[in-house]
Amino acid sequence: MSSLRFQAIKSVSGEEKIISGYGEKRITQIFGSNVFNGHNMREYLSDEAYKSLMNSAKNGTRVDRRMADQVAASMKAWAEARGVTHFTHWFQPLTGTTAEKHDSFFTIKSDGTAIELFDGDALIQQEPDASSFPNGGIRATFEARGYTAWDPSSPAFIMEAGSGKTLCIPTIFIAYNGESLDHKAPLLKSISALDKAAVDVCHFFDKNVSKVIATLGWEQEYFVIDESLANARPDLLMCGRTLLGHSPAKGQQLEDHYFGSIPERVYAFMQDFEQESYKLGIPLRTRHNEVAPSQFECAPIFEECNIAVDHNTLLMDVMNKVAKRHKLKALLHEKPFAGVNGSGKHNNWSLATDTGVNLLSPGKTPRTNLMFLTFFVNTIKAVHDYADLLRGSIASANNDHRLGANEAPPAIISVYIGKFLSDVLDEVETRVKEKFSEQDEVILKLDIHKQIPELLMDNTDRNRTSPFAFTGNKFEFRAVGSSANCASPMVVLNTIMTETLKQFKKDVDGLIEKGEKKEIAILQVLRQNISDSKKIRFEGDNYSEEWAAEAKRRGLSNFKTTPEALDAYITDKSKAVFFDNGIFSKRELEARHEIMLEDYVKKVQIEARIIGSLATNNVLPSAINYQNTLITNVRGLKEIGIDKKGYKAQLNLVEKVSEHIQGINDNVEAMIEARKQANNTDDMHKRALKYCHEVKPFFDKIRYHADKLELIVDDQLWPLPKYSELLFMR
Ligand code: ADP
Ligand code: MG
Repeated sequence: MSSLRFQAIKSVSGEEKIISGYGEKRITQIFGSNVFNGHNMREYLSDEAYKSLMNSAKNGTRVDRRMADQVAASMKAWAEARGVTHFTHWFQPLTGTTAEKHDSFFTIKSDGTAIELFDGDALIQQEPDASSFPNGGIRATFEARGYTAWDPSSPAFIMEAGSGKTLCIPTIFIAYNGESLDHKAPLLKSISALDKAAVDVCHFFDKNVSKVIATLGWEQEYFVIDESLANARPDLLMCGRTLLGHSPAKGQQLEDHYFGSIPERVYAFMQDFEQESYKLGIPLRTRHNEVAPSQFECAPIFEECNIAVDHNTLLMDVMNKVAKRHKLKALLHEKPFAGVNGSGKHNNWSLATDTGVNLLSPGKTPRTNLMFLTFFVNTIKAVHDYADLLRGSIASANNDHRLGANEAPPAIISVYIGKFLSDVLDEVETRVKEKFSEQDEVILKLDIHKQIPELLMDNTDRNRTSPFAFTGNKFEFRAVGSSANCASPMVVLNTIMTETLKQFKKDVDGLIEKGEKKEIAILQVLRQNISDSKKIRFEGDNYSEEWAAEAKRRGLSNFKTTPEALDAYITDKSKAVFFDNGIFSKRELEARHEIMLEDYVKKVQIEARIIGSLATNNVLPSAINYQNTLITNVRGLKEIGIDKKGYKAQLNLVEKVSEHIQGINDNVEAMIEARKQANNTDDMHKRALKYCHEVKPFFDKIRYHADKLELIVDDQLWPLPKYSELLFMR
């Protein structure tokens, strides 16, 4: 008897409603209450320490040791006043989650007195026992140590879990010799490299700009299902996605979920995780249903890239914790259900100056429009030049299920800019000649100026199929996976933009040196960049087969799987762009590449084990059970003298069940053999390729037979919650 499934179903309907809500509170009253910044900082820090901290937050400089003691003491006082007993260095290793190791403030002095202590040393650096974090060989060859180092540019916060409260210090995670082992260290480097390159280019237009920050506004898609149902599915628990399961009679064909009203239980969960997020200073703004049943989305107001990355990882953590309170499970996996839309994480990205200008927002005067055009065209050029790297930055075993499945952008990177801006770029390309008069320049600038503002009203003309779309005042990178750390694509985007802006400045300076007027030099280089990057622009339907063929003709890459896509990280071109801009050393890159491959291998390996055991230990026994019932039935009918015509259907079913049992058995055995072969391959790249092309194909074969059995076998005997239950019961 498939008791687990039916127990789970019973507990869904017996679920009491959790009443939640904001009560009397306004969001502004709780926003940031668990964050050591702004008002809290002012209250607890001396003027001197406050200035020092603000300065290092802004410029990424070190906080000196004496100040660090002061800051630590104030943080501790602030945290203790809120009932905090422990602190942790909070970091984002390359495992895909966040890491914490909690230490108590409590300590015992040499004379035996017990005191609460948290000093500058504890704030600035820790040495977590982190030997199990992935390091791609970096730490094996040096001292086997990893350090976490305080990142003053991201504020400390209090994480609540039940009645426990922990002071979390955002940190970067590096090896003994300084090589990065996490997502944050390269991100900070890329932000600062981009700052410098963008400021230099801004100076062509405005000398007052002294800082440019990358901004990020992510949109997070996720599924929410009942926890007891999820617990009855080992594949959901261990892999985050269903490896088996026939599509339900009702799927998303009706699209009645999209922007429909949010189910009450999920609504309570949302309000709860929103409140927790507000306390942590995550500025959530929107929530709505997504296309698939049980799928939802939330998005914050955009922030500085660094903070936005922290807030997204924090949010994912908070969602998981809060879901538990509501006896729900948040699924952040890119593809939890076959045949149902997957989840992405759109990364809206732009550049903002300290003078308050969004560099990707069309301006009001011809001069500011030329500045807009400069950053706009250079972004397209950057994507054109480094499309493979951008594709590599979003590659993961999970995301492979989504890219190119006609619901998410394809694995082909292209840029959508809309008709108006396409016309503007075409005009610059055709009208700017090798040599042209000032008269031309004036006309051109005025023409462009007249056209661009219309774009702002063009916001509805969106192409939802494009992986990289301009949406009025920012670019939206839509191919990012829902469970991904945003840092990975942001590091790449910031870095390739840095490189492109540096080259742009060099080219313009070159023309100016030759005696060209500045504006004309800028237009000349823009024209060149527009024409060089033309093939990356695509305005049509990215889901269509015609586009795949057209992209191939254009020479654009289409890396469909992770092991292939990740190769982009270790090409000479990529090594150069990362190295020249101080983001990764060659060794760091190679280590990272290795870590990502290993992550891929592990994920597919775990899935292979789980699908094998589910099919063998859950599906086969229930199929055999049902088959025995059929056989008993046939035998009985025979005994009472019914002739063969009378049990034709039963015999037919017996045969079908046998066929699928055999199918499962053969494929599981062959898969295990393929896995052995793959595991015997030492080279990680080759091993990943084997897992991809020799192990993974068995998943579909096994699934085919298991899903067929699901249609045949007595529902009462079926052991796993079905799609209809997972997606529609709450
Ligand atoms: P959509 O229709 O795609 O939901 P929205 O206008 O609601 O578009 O914006 C989506 C996301 O883009 C939000 O997270 C928002 O904060 C972010 N965003 C808006 N402007 C910027 C910007 N200048 N830089 C980065 N992100 C931005
Ligand atoms: Mg969007």
